[in-house]
Amino acid sequence: MMETELNWLLNALEEAGKTAVKKDGEYWRASYTAEDKAVVELLAQYMREEGMEIFFDAVGNLHGVLEGKSRDVIMVGSHRDTVRHGGKYDGMLGILAGIRAAGSLYRQFGRPEKTLEVVAMAEEESSRFPASDYPGSSNIAGIMPRSALELTDADGVTLGAAIKEAGYRGEPLDRKRPEIKRFIEMHIEQGGVLEHEGKQIGIIRSIVGQWGGRIDFVGEQNHAGTTPMDLRRDPVPVMADFIRDMFCRIKPYEGDLVLTMGKIDVWPGNANVIPQKVSVTYDLRSADYDLGRKVFADMLNLQDKYRGAVRIEVTPAWEDRPTDLDPQGIEELEAVARELNYPYKIMNSGAGHDSQNMAKSYPTNMIFVPSVGGVSHHEKEYTKPGDLEAGLAVLKAYLKKLSW
Ligand SMILES: [Zn+2]
Repeated sequence: MMETELNWLLNALEEAGKTAVKKDGEYWRASYTAEDKAVVELLAQYMREEGMEIFFDAVGNLHGVLEGKSRDVIMVGSHRDTVRHGGKYDGMLGILAGIRAAGSLYRQFGRPEKTLEVVAMAEEESSRFPASDYPGSSNIAGIMPRSALELTDADGVTLGAAIKEAGYRGEPLDRKRPEIKRFIEMHIEQGGVLEHEGKQIGIIRSIVGQWGGRIDFVGEQNHAGTTPMDLRRDPVPVMADFIRDMFCRIKPYEGDLVLTMGKIDVWPGNANVIPQKVSVTYDLRSADYDLGRKVFADMLNLQDKYRGAVRIEVTPAWEDRPTDLDPQGIEELEAVARELNYPYKIMNSGAGHDSQNMAKSYPTNMIFVPSVGGVSHHEKEYTKPGDLEAGLAVLKAYLKKLSW
């Protein structure tokens, strides 16, 4: 029986993947587009085949409902959009595994005690609306601000208009639903820890907090040949010292924190010109809020250390606190993994997920399965069938425990 379920999942991942291929051959399922419409139709068909009633909420999240004897809801799912040139597992796995697990249990055990709801959420990846803070899940959690509807895509279309154009209600946005008793999201790891340690299941304790922004170093543009070294206000060596200092400072905390300075820009950017300005981005993540704050404060203090002939400006762009997932759910998932004899690890998620919004309103848990080579947001994204099987089995056993 297990093999049939796995085959269903493998086939469904392929079929869903096909809907993300645009006419020009590019793989990209942005929100509220033709590719999004295609996957919604496919997922709705899968949900109906498993005996679910479907509905859409204000922002167009697709919900498949297996009505239980009580109105309490156990919700499971993930996001249906993909990044440009992304892979077919990210997000989609959590939706399809949810559909299959719920459907199998329904066939086997009949009507559940608690209502089971599978959700395919819109716009988690900022696939169309940059920095939109996961409107799909924030709407279900009842925390989406109306102002989010004013965000615009690259063509100036607002989120609100895109939602309506796709045939969804838009306003009023949904309120928190007290009948939702738990949310569970299964997702690929998007890193290489599970594979490296030979574990098949990750049970997430916290989703890391993030501090991100940009640091500008402003000096004075001049001729590279005629300006003596002692008369220069060159921002480049100052930036280099600053960056090196930051990475030295985080050395003692490397197990609990990651820092990336991933984009460096130089103005005007000529080989024979002392730059006027250089800027570097920072992306600091930690599940330990106090530690993250401390390192962020260190960085602000470094401004004073290196300020002199060169002006330094730190411009924070975002700060997200870490999100702790539900401790009872973690224990229960651990018991399930142990019972089924899958090697598992309690770990943090270094990437953001819909679960961090859901956790603000409902007890929420996440299950990870390994990504081969730690690859994600890439067409080479791949999870071994044996690991998909493990994830599906854990999800199914947990849903049975919760709903039947
Ligand atoms: Zn994802």
